[in-house]
Amino acid sequence: MQKALKKLQDLDLRGKRVFVRVDFNVPLKAEGKHWVVTDSKRIEGALETIRHIIANDGKCILASHLGRPKGKKDAKFSLEPVGAKLSELLGKDVILTDDCIGDGAKSLSLRMRSGDVLLLENLRFHEGEESNSADFVAKLLELTDVYVNDAFGTMHRAHASTVGLPKLVADRGAGFLVQKEVKYLTALKENPERPLALVMGGSKVSDKMGILEQFLPKVDKVFVGGAMAYAFLKAKGHEIGKSLCDDKQEQLAARIVKAAEARHIRLVLPVDHVVASSIQDVPGKKITAGVDIPKELLGVDIGPQTIELFQRELSGVKTIFWNGPMGVFEEPAFAGGTFALARAIAASSGLKLAGGGDSAAAISQSGTEAQFDFVSTGGGATLEFLEGHEFAGLKVLEFRKSGEA
Ligand code: AMP
Repeated sequence: MQKALKKLQDLDLRGKRVFVRVDFNVPLKAEGKHWVVTDSKRIEGALETIRHIIANDGKCILASHLGRPKGKKDAKFSLEPVGAKLSELLGKDVILTDDCIGDGAKSLSLRMRSGDVLLLENLRFHEGEESNSADFVAKLLELTDVYVNDAFGTMHRAHASTVGLPKLVADRGAGFLVQKEVKYLTALKENPERPLALVMGGSKVSDKMGILEQFLPKVDKVFVGGAMAYAFLKAKGHEIGKSLCDDKQEQLAARIVKAAEARHIRLVLPVDHVVASSIQDVPGKKITAGVDIPKELLGVDIGPQTIELFQRELSGVKTIFWNGPMGVFEEPAFAGGTFALARAIAASSGLKLAGGGDSAAAISQSGTEAQFDFVSTGGGATLEFLEGHEFAGLKVLEFRKSGEA
């Protein structure tokens, strides 16, 4: 049960330095001598919180990690391109500090005026961020009057900026993005409107096992596509050719098949496939006549009959949660099933939720984003939340006993 969170909109921000932990861990590409942001969704996701702070006369100090610089300054993980993108999106200056801690950052923070936006350089240029060192926390505290976390994807980790710092700041709360994540994912986990369907894809049953087990008591239909499906089909005695699957995945799938049968949960598996001799063999792409895959071929996507079956089975479902692609969707020739699924879910009348970077990318590429009620940005954190793990970064933002900070 999620306890009530302290919220950004309940905090007094006027004239205060508001330290906001954001998730600006965005993909970059080199363009000449510069790096540019190739997907700014995560930056856009934080705009509501940033604009609220500006509108309420706060001084907005943004802090994020980017990549894995392993505790050392490294120009290719600089937040400089993020600052440029953010400035463009906000239509105002964003100053980037040379370092996220130290005298330079502190004096810049003290010279800020209400409504200013300061972006701290990559938190992970310091080892103390991930180790949650007291020294590093003390340095971040020098920049902080009010603390806000709007980076759901980082809240399962007890780092300096997610747990060490907020423990020491009385005025703290969750940003709008985190509030939305918690609202939708808690409702899905604790009180979904039934019938509830889980649509799982991607490569490994083991990664989705926790969610499937957590949802067994309340799910009505489980759809499986992507490479995961071959483990289920093999466990049911089908030929899967050279498709991705190992003994461990097959055993896990067999356990779910049994548990689903015992609980009368409808397990919807592919009935045909797009196959090829390898993932590179685009010209050799074929569609199987039925569920079995010839020995010399491997499955790379769900087939047209499966898409129709999934569409049919989704009708009448009241809540849908989708995670993971239906095939090797990075290759356009094998992306048809994943995009068709995104459209099928978008066209259904129930509450439509999705999580995971690949599903989010497929939803955006298929132009169906507006029809989804919520697309989680949390990546691995979303799955962990749904599995029922406790998040240290959320716990620190919950109300405790009355009167306690
Ligand atoms: P996951 O991280 O478990 O969600 O898996 C995502 C990955 O699964 C993507 O990179 C897909 O290319 C891959 N994938 C999906 N379907 C297949 C398939 N039929 N064969 C091989 N890889 C697949």
